[in-house]
Amino acid sequence: MNSIRFILPFAKPYRRRYLAGILLAPLSIGSLLAIPWLTGNCVDLLRESMSPSNGADSLAPLEALKILLLLIVCFACIRGITLFAIRWFIISASRKVEFDLRDRLFSHLQGLDQGFYNRWKTGDILARCTQDVERVRILAGPIIMYSANTACMLVIAIPLMLSISIKLTLLLLIPLSLLTLSVRKIGPRVHSAVFKAQETLSDLSSLSQEDFAGIRVIKSFAQEEAEAERFRKLSGQYVDDNLEAARIQAWMQPLVGGVNELSLMLLLLLGGWYLLDAGSDLTLGQFIQFAGYQFQLIWPMISIGWVVNQFHRASASVVRVKAILESESNINPPAEPSRPEADELKGAISIRNLDFSYNGKKVLSNVSIEVPAGHTVAIIGRTGSGKSTLIKTLPRMVAVADGKIFIDGIDINQLPIGLLRKAIGFVPQESFLFSRTIRDNIGFGLDAPSEDGVLSAARISGLQKDMDQFPRGYDELVGERGVTLSGGQKQRAALARALLVRPSILLLDDSLSAVDTQTEKEILAELRATTDLITTVVVAQRISSILHADRIYVIDEGEVAEQGTHKELLEQNGLYAETYRLQLLSDELEDM
Ligand code: ATP
Ligand code: MG
Repeated sequence: MNSIRFILPFAKPYRRRYLAGILLAPLSIGSLLAIPWLTGNCVDLLRESMSPSNGADSLAPLEALKILLLLIVCFACIRGITLFAIRWFIISASRKVEFDLRDRLFSHLQGLDQGFYNRWKTGDILARCTQDVERVRILAGPIIMYSANTACMLVIAIPLMLSISIKLTLLLLIPLSLLTLSVRKIGPRVHSAVFKAQETLSDLSSLSQEDFAGIRVIKSFAQEEAEAERFRKLSGQYVDDNLEAARIQAWMQPLVGGVNELSLMLLLLLGGWYLLDAGSDLTLGQFIQFAGYQFQLIWPMISIGWVVNQFHRASASVVRVKAILESESNINPPAEPSRPEADELKGAISIRNLDFSYNGKKVLSNVSIEVPAGHTVAIIGRTGSGKSTLIKTLPRMVAVADGKIFIDGIDINQLPIGLLRKAIGFVPQESFLFSRTIRDNIGFGLDAPSEDGVLSAARISGLQKDMDQFPRGYDELVGERGVTLSGGQKQRAALARALLVRPSILLLDDSLSAVDTQTEKEILAELRATTDLITTVVVAQRISSILHADRIYVIDEGEVAEQGTHKELLEQNGLYAETYRLQLLSDELEDM
C-alpha cells in the first residue's frame, strides 16, 4: 500500500486519463461478456425453432437470429475500440508519470551535497534512475489497467453466472479462492527475492561504471582478467538471484493454469450433469453462456498472478527510488536569505575560528583567515593538511556551522546559494571536463557565453596558445572527462571556465600543478594583470608561484601554523622558510 501512496501524487495530474481508462473498463468488459450471452440466446433460439411444434413459424426466429448476430458484431466493435482507448489512456498516463518521477529524481540528485555522493555509488544511482523507475511505471500503468479489467470482469461475470446457476457458480468459485490464498502466500517471498536481485543489479552497474571510468588504470596494472572475474562473479550472483525469484514465481503460472483447467473440468462435469438432469431447467444456451463467461475469466485470473508479481517488483523499486528522494542535503538554502547591496558580492572573505570534520574526523581546527576584497591570499601546506577542504567551505561544497565564514560581512549560510556560487569562480584540484566541445566547456557557467568572452578567458588562462594543436579549434570535442586533453590543458580549460563567469572571488586549488613552471609564471602574471579587482585564494605547492600574494597562510594538520607576507614568513624561519629553501635547492638541482 505504501507503493500506491507513493505513486498517487505523481498520478494526480493525469487523473482524467486514469479516470477515462477506468470508466471505460466496465463498458469494455460488458461488451465482451455480451458476446457469450448473445451466443447462448442464438443457440436457444435455434433449438426452439428446430423443435417440431414451431415448424410453421420458422421465418421469425431467422429474423431474430440476424439481429442477434448484428448485435454480436456491434459489441465486438465496442470491445475493440474500448480496449484500444483504455490502453491508450492508462499507458500514456504511466509514461508521463515515469517522465515526472525521473525528472524529480534528477532534480533532487542535483540538489544533494557531496556527502551523499561520497556515500552512494554512481552505478547504483543510475540503476535506480533507470530500471527502478521503469518498474514503478509498470505500477502506474499496466498494473492499474489489468487490475481494473480483472475487477470489472469479476464484478460483471460472477453475477451473470449466478443468475444462471448459483450452485454451479459457487462450486467453481472454490478453486478460485484457493488461488487467491496461495498467491498471497507466495507474494512476500517473491518480493524479497526480487529486491535482492535488484540490489545485485545495482552493484553490477556500479562495478561496470567504475571499471569503465578507471579502464586506464586497470590496463596499466594489467588487471583486466581480475576485474573480468569480479564482474563474472557478480553477474553470476545476479543470475542466481533472478533464478531464485523465477523459481518462486514459476509456481504461480502452473497454479493459476491448473486451477483454470480444474474449473473447466468441473464445469463440463457438473454442467453436463445438470443439463442432462430432467429436473433442472438449465438450457443448452445457458450452458454455452456459462462456459463463455468462464472462458473469459481465464485470462483475468492469470493476470492476477502477473499483477501480484509485478506489484512486488514495483514495490521493491519504490523502496529503492524513495531512498534517494528521502535523502536530504546538509546544505540547504537559508530560510530568510540576506542579500548583499545591489545583489552583488564584492568579495571580502572572513573566516573566523573555523572547525571542520568529516564524519567525526577533524580536518580543520580554529582556522581564521581575512581576505579584504580584491586581495590575493595564498594557502600552502603539506599534503592532506586540509587545504582543499578549506577552499570547499567557501562555495558551500561542504557544510559549515553558522557564524564561521562571512563574505562582505554576511554569513555564507545566510546568502542565497545561487548568488554565492555565481560570485565564485572555483577551479577544483581535479579538473573535470564534460564530453562537449572546448568552447562549451569554457562557457559552461553561462547561459549564452559570448565569443569574445570565451577567447579572452582562454587567453588569460594560457589555453589559447595550445589551440592550434586542435584541428577544429574551440569546436574540438574533448573525450569523456576531457581525456583527449593533456593534464595541463584540462587545468587551463577549467581555469578559463572559472574566469568567464567574471567572479568576485576566484578559488584556485592547486589548479596549475600540471603546467610547467614557465607557463605557470606567465599565467599568474596575466591573472594578476587582469584580475586585479578579484579576490583570489590560491592553494599552491610551489612557493615560487605565490610570491606575489598579499598574504600567505601556512596550514599544518588543519591549523594555521604561520602567516604573513613572503618576506615576513622567511624572517620567521619556520616551516615556510624551510620549505622555500628545499624548493629552491631542488629547482637549482633541476637546472643543473
Ligand atoms: P593535498 O595537498 O594532497 O591536496 P589537502 O591539503 O588539500 O591535500 P584535503 O583534501 O583537504 O587535503 O584533505 C584533508 C583531510 O581530509 C585528509 O586527511 C583527507 O583524507 C580527508 N578527507 C578529504 N576529503 C574527505 C571526504 N570527502 N571524506 C572524508 N575525509 C576526507
Ligand atoms: Mg587538496
